Parts: sequence; structure tokens; C-alpha cells
Amino acid sequence: ALTVPDKKVDSVCPYCGVGCQLTYNVKDNKILFVEGRDGPANHERLCVKGRYGFDYAHHPHRLTVPLIRRADAPKSGDFVMDPDRVMDVFREATWEEALALAGGTLSNIRDTHGKKSLAGFGSAKGSNEEAYLFQKLVRTGFGSNNVDHCTRLCHASSVAALLEGIGSGAVSNPVMDVTKAEVVIVIGANPTVNHPVAATWIKNAVKNGTKLVVCDPRRSDLARMSHRYLQFKPDTDVAMLNAMMHVIVHENLVDADFIASRTIGYDELKQNVEGYSPELMAPICGIDADTLRYVARLYATSKGSMILWGMGISQHIHGTDNARCLIALALMTGQIGRPGTGLHPLRGQNNVQGASDAGLIPMMFPDYQRVDNPAVRAKFEAAWNTPLDGTPGLTVVEIMHAIKAGQIRGMYIMGENPAMSDPDANHARESLAALEHLVVQDIFLTETCYLADVILPASAFPEKTGSFTNTDRTVQMGRQAIDPPGQAKQDLWILQELARRLGLDWNYQHVSEVFDEMRHTMPSIGGITWDRLEREHSVTYPCVAEGDPGDPVVFIETFPRDSGRARFVPADIIPADERPDTAYPLVLITGRQLEHWHTGSMTRRTAVLDALEPDPVALVHPLDLAGMGGKPGDVITIESRRGKVTLYARADDSSPRGAIFVPFCYYEAAINKLTNAALDPFGKIPEFKYCAIRVALG
Ligand code: SF4
Repeated sequence: ALTVPDKKVDSVCPYCGVGCQLTYNVKDNKILFVEGRDGPANHERLCVKGRYGFDYAHHPHRLTVPLIRRADAPKSGDFVMDPDRVMDVFREATWEEALALAGGTLSNIRDTHGKKSLAGFGSAKGSNEEAYLFQKLVRTGFGSNNVDHCTRLCHASSVAALLEGIGSGAVSNPVMDVTKAEVVIVIGANPTVNHPVAATWIKNAVKNGTKLVVCDPRRSDLARMSHRYLQFKPDTDVAMLNAMMHVIVHENLVDADFIASRTIGYDELKQNVEGYSPELMAPICGIDADTLRYVARLYATSKGSMILWGMGISQHIHGTDNARCLIALALMTGQIGRPGTGLHPLRGQNNVQGASDAGLIPMMFPDYQRVDNPAVRAKFEAAWNTPLDGTPGLTVVEIMHAIKAGQIRGMYIMGENPAMSDPDANHARESLAALEHLVVQDIFLTETCYLADVILPASAFPEKTGSFTNTDRTVQMGRQAIDPPGQAKQDLWILQELARRLGLDWNYQHVSEVFDEMRHTMPSIGGITWDRLEREHSVTYPCVAEGDPGDPVVFIETFPRDSGRARFVPADIIPADERPDTAYPLVLITGRQLEHWHTGSMTRRTAVLDALEPDPVALVHPLDLAGMGGKPGDVITIESRRGKVTLYARADDSSPRGAIFVPFCYYEAAINKLTNAALDPFGKIPEFKYCAIRVALG
């Protein structure tokens, strides 16, 4: 018989940054199915993850009781996951015992070794309120700014460039503005896979006459319907973009009024691109000079041109330079500050924008207010009633190095899985294993949990209420649809209980009280009340006063920098940190695939998604595969200077020859064991998109 839901709960999708609104259909505390809702980003559309990726919440692997590491279970960075032998490593504990051990040990480390001996990783999978309380716990309970999250691994370089050039790290225009643009450039992004509903709006725009230019070393699905596809060589973004700017300058396609009235630094940029003619750059980037000229003219002269980018731009040691070039393109042509124009770094996780806004970053208090600004610090000291550290803390990868150096001794990780997601994961695992005390709060026994001393069972997305901010700067309400299993608790409860054991006097009775505190310390969302979110479901910031409708398009008259003007920052070519050589002749590119999300802890425990993509795969150009004597389905071993994995080869000609793409979601072939931890010096983002490898059959 057909099972009929007894409850419908409106919420948002837990996966990517598009932020599709959906409805959970529930019966007997179980989600039966999900429907798309008429939200501003999706208008009832959902992708395969949003529609089918919900049953992880009911998976038997859910953590349902606090766990404490057994005294005789040593930690080792080269552990092998064995779910059947978990209780050899951990024992069950009461909440009181687990919280007392976690809070007591972290307090002891702080009091013995100093405030900078502790660090925390928060989560872009949690709500704004959870992110806010997490960073507040680290800043007021640990006493330092050693707090970060996965933005460091995705768009930190984009944000660094945007803050520097424009004064705001968020997007200028919503995705939906592609339907108003004459020209859309999608560069270093594969929205069909990573932001699928956003891709459908791009496709709609193309059908209505928008000219789409796709620039990417990997030929994405969108490239098939593009007006021009520029398959530039991996790692040559700056060469290609500077060549386009060279054309715009030389053919006087600039918006002189915009440059004169709204920007600074143009002369330096103009001088810098002088040496980047299309003829000189064509052999470097692999795009012929005529095509570079054509696309530059197309972008500069249209009535409205928009740029969307992803981690193909940001995850390089020159990621900030890549983003600087995109910003400069928009500024020199005045393609910003109007509907159907602008700059849109597509956010990866559903709340990476909100977690960053809420201050889960080591150099900023909430709302991007710098920790080393004395006036800002004084404001937060008054709001939180405690002295605060005025020096920026360590970032994700820096924390791993600081553990090895003995500087960081204890950590609290909520909903992140650095044992899978950090670059050079063997090093990251060794670092986590070297901690004196590691507390992990999660819904599954992740690879990072294997290295924990205390594991706190948390709530899954549909088990709690909170606000989430999507890639469009839209704050949306996620609502509780089901109860957590067993003794698992809501994350806000866990945060508050741990805070109390660190000596903090917290007493939030409801999530709305946290949001209310946030909006009084964060001017951008000052006008958004909890009641309004309940009523309207979503409000876009900046929204500085109650009654303010919110601004989907910003920078119309001014930029949020002291001068009100945006700044050009020139960029030069910096090669990847590790180039192919005779020992490691190929290039590794990592990323996501449609059916799985990040480290796979949720989607690989979702029946439909796991059935669609059950095994670890590497996408290899058919000629490269044939060249090594292999065929599709063969087992191959990929090796870099840092590690190796074994997985299945899939013939795929979307990658250029010599470049192999591997998703990072498979624990049995954890590809981040191979990636390079070299950092962009500004955004401190690792170079996930380029390292040298070799491949062998078997
Ligand atoms: Fe969820 Fe993103 Fe898919 Fe929308 S596009 S349903 S937010 S994963």
C-alpha cells in the first residue's frame, strides 16, 4: 500500500551552495520523499542529490551514543577503517562523561600550554547559528583565533581577492541573473555536476539567446551548448585572462567613465597587461589569438556580461591572482553593479557562505570584521563580555603543520573530515594522530573520528532548525523534520554544554536567540529578524534595517571599501608548485562528481546515490588509457610523491591528455593522500587542482 506522509516540513537542501528549497515528507519520524519548493534559487527544481540524497539520516551507521577512545587503542595516521571493529578502539560513554573528558582535557591544555595551543574546525554543513557559536567558543573559550573551516579549501583565494579589490567577499549578483545577461562566462567551474540547478538556469538563458563562454581545461557538459569553449591548458588561467585584458586595453573597449569614477589602480594594471599580447600567450594557454580576441570583445562590448567561477580558479597557489584577473575584467569594462552583470564565485557547500559570514575564519570576527582592528575587537569584547585575541589565527593547513611542531595540542572538530579533505592527507592524518586530545562531533564515524579521543554524536540536517546562507547571499530557514536517533543531540546543545565545561556562562534557550545575537553584531544582516525568516523563508543581505527588502544586486553606486572605489590588482604568471617531470609525468586534478558530495560520508550512505556511483574511479583520457595498455574498468594505481591509491579507470575524453581527474569522496581511494599542500600566499588555499603523478595498471 502507498505510504502517505503524516507531516510536511519546509526546509532547504543540505548539499551544494545553490540553496534549493525543498519539502520533507515524513511519516513516523522517517523521511519518505522530498519535493522541490518554490524558492528563489530553484523554483521547485532539485537535482539528484537534493531529491534522493536524504536517507543517510536513517542509515544504521549513524552515531547514536558518545564514544571515548580506549586507553589501549593507539592512534596512527595510517589507520585502516574497519567498521566492524569500532568497539576495539572506542567504548560507549554517557554524555556527562564524554563532555567532562572533552571539556576538562581541552581546558587543561589551554591552562597549561596557553591559549594558542588549541584550535577548532567548524563546518559549512551546519547552520549559521552553529557556525557563530563555534567560533565564539573558540575565541572566548579557547582564547585565540585558531578557528577555520572548509572555505579555506574552496574559495578562500576568491574571497581574498574580492575583499582586496571590491571590499566584499560575497557575490555581486545572484545566479538567476544569468537569465538577464547577454554574455555569461563560466570559468573553472562545472555547474552541471557541482551546482546542477544553477546549471539549468544557465541552460535556460542560452536557449533564450545568452551567449555562453565556457573556459576550462576539462570539457564540461555546459561546454556542449556554449557559444565558445576555451579548453585552456591546466594552470594557465592568468596568461589567458591577461591576454583578454590586453585586447580590451589595446582596442579601447574599456569603460573609461567607470574606471575614472569607480576604481583605483588602473594604470598599474594597464601597464602590467602590456606584456601579455594574445600572440605571446596563445602558445602558453593553448587558445589561439583570434579566439582570445573574439571572447575579449564579446565580454567587453555586451550590454551585460556576467562571470561565474568555481574551484578551477581558486584551488591553485595563484588562486588569488586568478580571481584578481576576473575582478579586473569586470571593472575595466564596467560589467558590474547592474542586473545581468557581475562576479559570482559559486559556493560549494550549502552554508559555506553563511559559515564564513558568521566568523568561522581565523582573521575575521563575524561579518568580515578584522580581528586585528582595535575598534572592532573592542566592539566584540563588549558584546561577548570577555577579552579577545587581536592577532589572526592559523588556517586549516597551517594548523596541521602547527600540530607537528608541537604548537597545537588539542582540537575540536565539528562536522568536518580533514582526514579525507585536507591536501597531503597522510600528513594531515599523522598530525591529527599526534594531538594530545581531539574531540570530534559528527553524525557518522568518519575517517577523522578514527583519530579522536572523544566522539560526540550530532544531529543530521533534517533533525534541527537553523538558518543557512546560499551562494546568492540569501539567508534561508532550514527546519527540523525528524528527531535525532538514539542519544544523538542537536549541535547547538552540544556546543553549549561543551562551552559550559570550558568555563563559559552560556544559556541560549532557542536557536532564535543565537540568531538575534548574530544580527546585533553583524551589520549586513541587521535587518533580518527570526520572525521574518519564519514568515518569508528567505531574505537576501545586505539587509541593514528592518523593512529593508535586501539587495540581490550590489555595488550599484559604490563599493564597500574606505574610498568607495574598487581596486585593480595586477597579476603575473606563477607556475604550479609541482610540475610534471620524468618521474611523475602526468597531472592530477581533483574535484567532485554529481552523485557524491565532498568526502562522501553522507552520499555514500544514500541508497540511490551510492547505487549510481558505488566505486572509486579515475577519469582518464581514452588515448592515455590505451597508451598504457589499459581499458575502461581496469584497476590502476595513481601515485604522487606523497602517496598512492588504487581505483578503477574510466575512459573520459573531457580531460585533456596527460591530466587525470579523480573525485575526492572515496575513502578506499582517498585521493587527497596524493595532493599538494602548497598554499596560495594570500588565500592560504592548497593547490588541489594541480600536482604531478604517475599511473600504472594494476
Ligand atoms: Fe541541492 Fe545543490 Fe542540487 Fe539544489 S542544486 S538540489 S542545493 S545539491
